[in-house]
Amino acid sequence: MNLHEYQGKELLNSFGVRVQRGIVATSTEQAVSAAKKLQEDTGTNWWVIKAQVHAGGRGKAGGVKIASSIAEVHERASEMLGTNLITKQTDQKGLPVNQVYVESGTSIQSEYYLSLLVDRTKESWTYIASIEGGVDIEAVAEESPEKIINYTIDPLKGLELYSLKQMADRMGFTDDVHSQFVSITKRMFEIAKDKDANLIEVNPLILDDHNQLIALDAKISIESNALFRQEEL
Ligand code: ADP
Ligand code: MG
Repeated sequence: MNLHEYQGKELLNSFGVRVQRGIVATSTEQAVSAAKKLQEDTGTNWWVIKAQVHAGGRGKAGGVKIASSIAEVHERASEMLGTNLITKQTDQKGLPVNQVYVESGTSIQSEYYLSLLVDRTKESWTYIASIEGGVDIEAVAEESPEKIINYTIDPLKGLELYSLKQMADRMGFTDDVHSQFVSITKRMFEIAKDKDANLIEVNPLILDDHNQLIALDAKISIESNALFRQEEL
């Protein structure tokens, strides 16, 4: 069972992973009040309107749009809601946009890739990370495999802090960002175990102008065979 971006971010946030403040909306009016509420709460004066469909590649397909005024929030939301979004991960009909996520805009220094998934060939959990984020990870794996960092958790040893730190080293992180990265990866494993998630993909994980690592997109998939014990989700 796939979670929508906003649901995945709620989960990440509840486990202590930093996300942008956002509010989901099913109508243009709701999108406008969401934007006003975010402005009140965070002081933001620009927003990103994001179509909530179960497909990636929304940015390139017009499903992620910037709005720099409330009037523009109205415009972008009304353009998206009620249409079908066709991305390279959907078929030709696309997917209906019934909800948009109104998120406060953030500065971006760099975009990274980070995921944790059940690797069935290795019969274990594997982290995948890359300094090339925000783009198609399959393309990075094909064109520059040296930019992909892997860590497969040994089921007998369990999660090893040393290996998470090594991943952070290889990402080139130092100081506070290094420890933020380690803490995010640790929390992703907690979510995976607690919520029976077989995929937690954060693409991009970004570094903002205040040197904070933020999960700017989230794709979380819950193992269907475990749904009986994940009633809440
Ligand atoms: P998708 O992967 O479906 O294209 P993302 O959520 O990854 O959608 O968004 C695409 C891009 O849009 C991101 O890589 C980032 O550059 C930009 N973006 C998304 N959300 C925000 C935000 N809140 N503030 C600033 N830029 C954003
Ligand atoms: Mg993305």
